[in-house]
Amino acid sequence: MTQPIRSIPAMHEVQKTDVYKKLSNDIPTLILNNWIKASIENTRKDILNNRENYEDVSRIDHIRKITEYLIKQSNHFSPFRLQKVINGTGTVLHTNLGRARLSETAMKRVVETSANYSTLEYDVEKGERGSRHDIIQDLLLKVTNSEAAMVVNNNSAAVYFILKALCQDKEVIVSRGELVEIGGSFRVSTIMEESRAKLVEVGTTNKTHEFDYKNAITDETKMLMKVHTSNFKTVGFTKEVSSKGLKKITQQTNKEIIIYEDLGSGSLYPFQHNGIGDEPVVKEALKHADVVSFSGDKLLGGPQAGIIVGKKDIINKLKKHPLARVLRVDKMTLAALEATLQQYLFGQELQIPTIRDVLQSKDDVLSKAMTFLENLNQNSNVGGEIASDFSYVGGGTMPTEKLQTYGVILKSEHYSANQLEKKLRGGETPVITRMKDGHVFIDFRTITTEEIDVLLESVKKVCSNRDKLQ
Ligand SMILES: *Cc1c(COP(=O)(O)O)cnc(C)c1O
Repeated sequence: MTQPIRSIPAMHEVQKTDVYKKLSNDIPTLILNNWIKASIENTRKDILNNRENYEDVSRIDHIRKITEYLIKQSNHFSPFRLQKVINGTGTVLHTNLGRARLSETAMKRVVETSANYSTLEYDVEKGERGSRHDIIQDLLLKVTNSEAAMVVNNNSAAVYFILKALCQDKEVIVSRGELVEIGGSFRVSTIMEESRAKLVEVGTTNKTHEFDYKNAITDETKMLMKVHTSNFKTVGFTKEVSSKGLKKITQQTNKEIIIYEDLGSGSLYPFQHNGIGDEPVVKEALKHADVVSFSGDKLLGGPQAGIIVGKKDIINKLKKHPLARVLRVDKMTLAALEATLQQYLFGQELQIPTIRDVLQSKDDVLSKAMTFLENLNQNSNVGGEIASDFSYVGGGTMPTEKLQTYGVILKSEHYSANQLEKKLRGGETPVITRMKDGHVFIDFRTITTEEIDVLLESVKKVCSNRDKLQ
């Protein structure tokens, strides 16, 4: 009787196989070798535990099993961890899926700017050093009607920066109804603590009145801060003071108190005019607030960034602060943001995917769902039917706003809904779906016409490779 453990092949024996040679064209050998090691190690352990199963297993059998394992691994292999996915959730600003997609123009500008030298900090007219702030300040002034503007890494950074640079060791008054947590990692109170501004909470969770602010103002008060409660809505008996109300209060005090509004989403496009939500546009907020901050990759539809607009003296103070260097954005962000803002200026908002997808009519969504379904029906393993539903804007914006939408319910003969959902996620181009009434549902609001072919391929592959993938 041979020792089963001695029939385990060595690494180099597997490396001689055709399977290995073929896979090594597409997969780094370091990774292939790690898979072989893992497979050999598993075999060794299994032999030690279940020796009786291995009495008749030859070295050739082992090699075949290991190469099968390599093929299985390679089916899921992607050289990149940051991968394109198909967003079938219908949530336009899906924070886990990268929020806003860039417009085609913005994307091209990123490619052009990052592949070349650029005028990032160079004034070509004077032939000397320029400022990266100048690149988009003018554009921001035009689209928001502000006096001055600057850009930092994201809106959380903007909030921290504003509090730190303007209010360290000073009192900042915030309504208890606005001490929000966004996305699990951004809490107004925590950021405030980090910045060493002194938080003065006023009012209650549902109601804060003008007198609450008035009574809290002292000689130490530096700022009244207003936070857009992006991801939730208080309903019923509620009262909050608008920035207009805050302005009135500060005017009555004769003190120099800054009014800051953290808008969160900060829309530049008036979605309300299309009957969608009641999101304040930045221009409106600036009528009363001295400084306003918002995200670049929420409703604006650009790259991740924190945009700060407002009074010249305040923004100039921020630009001179050492943290401005710490929080500065790179050329790719500036390229994408400049292109996106240009699209607002030229009235090309509908070319910005976020705006386009939020405004998309349910009939347009339906026609995409139908195109998909017509082509899917040629495949017998999976069936689909059109269903209407609601999609959300996401990214913590307009949480109660339901957008009428259409999608396709997928039903497989072989898989439960949960298995199907998982298989779709595990494909070469992951398809992220959601559940509706216990079935896998693909919402076509967030899928473009161009993506339908890839989606079809993914769905068909998952549903026809039953044995291979299991
Ligand atoms: C989203 C949001 C933030 C954080 O912005 P990021 O760009 O994600 O850093 C801060 N404040 C409010 C009100 C928000 O909605």
